[in-house]
Amino acid sequence: MMEIKQRIEEIFSELVELNEYIYLHPELGLKEEKACKAHVDILRKYGFDVEEQFIGIQTAFKATYDSKKAGPTIAVMAEYDALPDIGHGCGHNMIGSVSTGVGIVLKSYMETLGGKVIVLGTPAEETDGAKVDMAEQGVFADVDVAMMAHPSSKTSISIESLAMEAIEFEFIGKAAHAAAMPEKGINALDAVIGTFNNINALREHITSSTRIHGIIKEGGVAANIVPERAVAQFYIRATTKTYLKEVIEKVKNCARGAAMATGATLTIRNYEKSYDNFVKNNNFNNIIEKNFDLFGMGPVEERKSNLGSLDAGNVSQVCPTIHPMFSITETDIPAHTRAFAEATLTPYALQKMKAVIGALTQTGIDIINDQELLQAIKQEYNKTEK
Ligand SMILES: [Zn+2]
Ligand SMILES: [Zn+2]
Repeated sequence: MMEIKQRIEEIFSELVELNEYIYLHPELGLKEEKACKAHVDILRKYGFDVEEQFIGIQTAFKATYDSKKAGPTIAVMAEYDALPDIGHGCGHNMIGSVSTGVGIVLKSYMETLGGKVIVLGTPAEETDGAKVDMAEQGVFADVDVAMMAHPSSKTSISIESLAMEAIEFEFIGKAAHAAAMPEKGINALDAVIGTFNNINALREHITSSTRIHGIIKEGGVAANIVPERAVAQFYIRATTKTYLKEVIEKVKNCARGAAMATGATLTIRNYEKSYDNFVKNNNFNNIIEKNFDLFGMGPVEERKSNLGSLDAGNVSQVCPTIHPMFSITETDIPAHTRAFAEATLTPYALQKMKAVIGALTQTGIDIINDQELLQAIKQEYNKTEK
């Protein structure tokens, strides 16, 4: 452990600079050009092979170090997108700096221990998560485990996030004078209203943690014209991807039924990327918890509430993944605020950043050194409901 600390110390000033540079130049999702370049520069300097514009995404990258000796492939994920108006209120400047630090230190160990480490630059977590495309396109097919850590007010190992799908229903009816010739019209708005009513009836027969929430985007243009076109958008969320699929089919049937009843035609589409639920792995969480303790991360809290949805959820559907939250504040500061952005620069936060780099690096080393541990993680993973 002392040796890991020493190796982190050797590069730490560069990581602090990276953290501050990204804080000072906040860029929105898919526009993180400065942040991406800053990561790529430092990783190249430390001997990584870097592929820029990875999978065709301008601000994504894949930095690889292959020891060419037998051993696991470990991916660390760097986020670096900011929020409109409030900059790095989610602390993603720190996520990128932590993952880059872990990559560089882990590489120095892999030179003798074996294995392969990949640092992935994953843009746009707050909007159109690049991890969704990466998971879909098989980027993690040869990855044994994936890691990242997210700054927060509280330290917690195990996170929960819901599988989420964004579905739009577009109904096309037939316009007609609503008073003189209503019998000639087909009312698309009635189809939308029917959909909402059907969904409200469906709520009685789905699990209580499932969420279906929607809006009417378009509902006609004038009260004296039978609405020709009406559009509704919904988010549907559930604790597992499998159950979500079941619910989505039922929700679609609610819209299909309403279309049939009114005579409107229905088009169904996804209007945003779908995020998957986060698949928990107790064996993996246990090592990270041990190493959080080893590096003095302080008390770990049980996370009780759901986080909404994360694009790391999609990664956890294709390989064992950890996404612990680490406390960078001494008092409670909510995320997505300017105060939280500022907190990423304090000496307290930087000390935690150093500790979390140590804990993740140690976790990588544990996995390289103990094949049974990796087997246990994988066995649990294969058995877990997704
Ligand atoms: Zn956020
Ligand atoms: Zn975040």
